[in-house]
Amino acid sequence: MSDPLPISVLGSTGAIGRATLDIVRLFPERFRVRALAARRDIDHLARQIAEFSPEAVAVLDPDAADRLRSMNPGCEVLEGESGCCDLAARPAHRVVCGMVGASGLAPLLAALDAGNTVALANKEPMVMAGQIIMRRAADRGVSVLPVDSEHSALFQCLAGHPPSHVRRLWLTASGGPFYGKSRAQLHQVSPAEAARHPTWKMGVKISVDSATLMNKGLEIIEAMRLFGLPRNKIEVVIHPQSIVHGLVEFTDGNMLAHLGVTDMKQPILYALTWPDRSERPVKTLDLASVGSLTFSRPDLDAFPCLALALEAADRGGTAPAVLNAANEVAVESFCREHISFLEIADVVAETMARCVSPHDGISLEAILAADTDARRTAETIVRELERKKR
Ligand code: MG
Repeated sequence: MSDPLPISVLGSTGAIGRATLDIVRLFPERFRVRALAARRDIDHLARQIAEFSPEAVAVLDPDAADRLRSMNPGCEVLEGESGCCDLAARPAHRVVCGMVGASGLAPLLAALDAGNTVALANKEPMVMAGQIIMRRAADRGVSVLPVDSEHSALFQCLAGHPPSHVRRLWLTASGGPFYGKSRAQLHQVSPAEAARHPTWKMGVKISVDSATLMNKGLEIIEAMRLFGLPRNKIEVVIHPQSIVHGLVEFTDGNMLAHLGVTDMKQPILYALTWPDRSERPVKTLDLASVGSLTFSRPDLDAFPCLALALEAADRGGTAPAVLNAANEVAVESFCREHISFLEIADVVAETMARCVSPHDGISLEAILAADTDARRTAETIVRELERKKR
């Protein structure tokens, strides 16, 4: 057996990072940790350093980085976005991108530019700048391997099939904690209720995105970029059991589905071993105990965020970056109880109305400018909503 392969984990204290380190723990003969990056949870990061002995770590928040240094962690401590980029550029078998939101974009590009293969869980950079990311990866001859469960499923179903044979991709959505509720029933829901996902254990941001169905909208754009397909070739179907993660429909009507457990270790493990497969599973799926699988159409009236994401996908240019930035601000404001659950979609819609320009190109500069502008505008809209309620 060869030496364990070095893995760098960006967002190591989050749900994806912790699941990745679980895999390293389960497969120590296959993988070891080269580097870790976290936003600011240095207590958790210090425990990971003690267990996995990385060569270096990066902490996005500079004050937290200083505090970690004063704890004498026994490894190099980098800080800020540049520190995360420096870390992402160090040679690794995989750079696992599990940061939250747009903050993951620069480190992702740094990893690709350095020739590292990326295992991508952090979908927001793909929504903002997917074309740029895929072009950089192609230029460097490296892969962006999806960790998002639906995209990992589609990636596996598509393997070996030419694009011309694909009629449509189907993304499944659990429907989130509010599946089956009408718009009227969603006025009063709390952040804690929105973050309680029925089938997946995930971070707060993505759990709220799942509750609004924005997550599925972001995933449509992510799939367009990853697989180079137009919007009309990607469909969403509600599947509350979250057992079928994605389906490919071919031109002749045949469909291939991917089934698996609801555990992110599954797609992470595949992204770490690809094109090989692990010799043993993390968990196995017991279909008989699942019983039945059901499917239904999404309710765009109760969940307008999905429609907004489709609009951003159709408008193209910087519209997906505006959508993403507005959503990040709106979700954060909802979690702080500054706006209500239904106002998340209002903030996103109003930000898009004020910020999306039909003539913006998709240079990195234009995307970053649109991101900054949309964040500022969304914050203004949140304050306007708060003032109205006083
Ligand atoms: Mg997903």
